[in-house]
Amino acid sequence: MDHLKNSECIFCKIVQGSIPCYHIYEDDTCLAFLDVAPLTTGHTLLIPKSHYVNLLDTPSFLIAHLNTIAKRIARHYLEALGATGFKIHTNVGKNAGQVVNHYHIHIIPYYPKNSQLNEKPQLSNDAFQDLASKIKLN
Ligand code: 5GP
Ligand code: ZN
Repeated sequence: MDHLKNSECIFCKIVQGSIPCYHIYEDDTCLAFLDVAPLTTGHTLLIPKSHYVNLLDTPSFLIAHLNTIAKRIARHYLEALGATGFKIHTNVGKNAGQVVNHYHIHIIPYYPKNSQLNEKPQLSNDAFQDLASKIKLN
């Protein structure tokens, strides 16, 4: 199987730039961008640039790298967003809720109780862009 890309895969298209994303972080092997249907403000997806279906399919060195980057992003969001907690997880298989079959880590920030930021935001394209440029990790 060619792990470089899968022509049917929406996240491979994001890596290739044929589908746009609200860009947060990129290096040689991974890419992070805002989820288009965020559960909270700042909900971010982190993916390997190569196509692997899920955690079980992905080489351990890449999983380790992605977890290191997920931790960096979460630490950065403490200040950049004022987040006070996170859910960081991956879904494996459709019975566990995996919809996009390209390994990805969800980084979902949480805020103090009663903060509106804990609720599903309805963001315009401009609002997504503004948020991404505010919380981008260099
Ligand atoms: P899963 O359920 O597979 O773990 O999560 C897939 C996530 O990808 C969902 O939270 C969904 O909102 C997000 N998603 C699906 N299509 C796109 C897309 O084209 N762009 C972005 N940024 N996120 C997407
Ligand atoms: Zn893919």
